[in-house]
Amino acid sequence: MVTPDDIRAAAQRIETIIRPTPLRPAPALSAIAGGEVWLKCEHLQETGSFKLRGAANASARLGDVAGVTTASTGNHGRALAYAARQLKLPAVICVSRLVPQNKLDAIAALGAEARIIGASQDEAFQEARRLKRDEGFALIPPFDHSDVIAGQGTLGFEILDEIPDAASIAIPLSGGGLLSGVALAAKSRRPDLRIIGISMERGAAMAASLAAGHPVEVEELPTLADSLGGGIGLKNRLTFQMTRDLMDDLILLNEEEIARGIRHLFRENGEYVEGGAAVGAGAVLAGKLRAENGPLVLILSGRNIDAAQHADILRSGS
Ligand SMILES: *Cc1c(COP(=O)(O)O)cnc(C)c1O
Repeated sequence: MVTPDDIRAAAQRIETIIRPTPLRPAPALSAIAGGEVWLKCEHLQETGSFKLRGAANASARLGDVAGVTTASTGNHGRALAYAARQLKLPAVICVSRLVPQNKLDAIAALGAEARIIGASQDEAFQEARRLKRDEGFALIPPFDHSDVIAGQGTLGFEILDEIPDAASIAIPLSGGGLLSGVALAAKSRRPDLRIIGISMERGAAMAASLAAGHPVEVEELPTLADSLGGGIGLKNRLTFQMTRDLMDDLILLNEEEIARGIRHLFRENGEYVEGGAAVGAGAVLAGKLRAENGPLVLILSGRNIDAAQHADILRSGS
């Protein structure tokens, strides 16, 4: 269970590790959406994504451990490496030998060990489990953990501190840690506020699980919103139920709609974001998300996209 008080406590706990991120108006999107649209610029967070909030809160809550570990090579792995260094805890990020050198370098640059084990993400995860079992490490998962959810939820209070009359918040959705935390915080203060989750059409595990009524696996397909891929865990403990209970609407986007979001945010707002962070803008541009009922806040969740891929996307559309 996570409560609004847990989120308030998390905000204090992580205050010295994270940086507060700006909330910026988006005039072009506002004109299209029929009302005020705001961008919560969490892609400007340290390590390039909001994941630092949850990783920092979970790490700061640990008692006596040998260190922290996870098997994520993406935004969560980076965030955990950074949080651990701030807290002077050893961090081992377990990766498969398929992980490209630039990702290994990024982990090393944050002061963590990238431990290369096996040929798949599964084998890397086995090593993280072994570190927990045999060596006294804490295994910090990317979303389905009460301290991680509480950390991500701090964004919800930050948004309402600045826009108390927000009518809705649009949230990129994968495992649902971000949505669960932000929705819990926001609705504790404003029960009428609407929470809109946005995923890609290709391989959205939470959408498929909600439709089935229980966690299911989906085939993982390549998508521009790569940080929204992956499963929610067949034994999901928290985020499936929280997302089901707290989310008011779910929007799915195709690849071209995501690409348009990336292009628009760069050209009109000067924001360099990854695919998973561009889905709110993509939904507005596609006419799937409106702001007539009051201010709409889009969470720009990360900026970790390959520069060459970003340049290709800018070139590929009008
Ligand atoms: C992890 C991530 C998400 C989704 O967060 P969940 O808590 O898994 O739903 C969205 N955007 C970015 C950039 C991410 O790294």
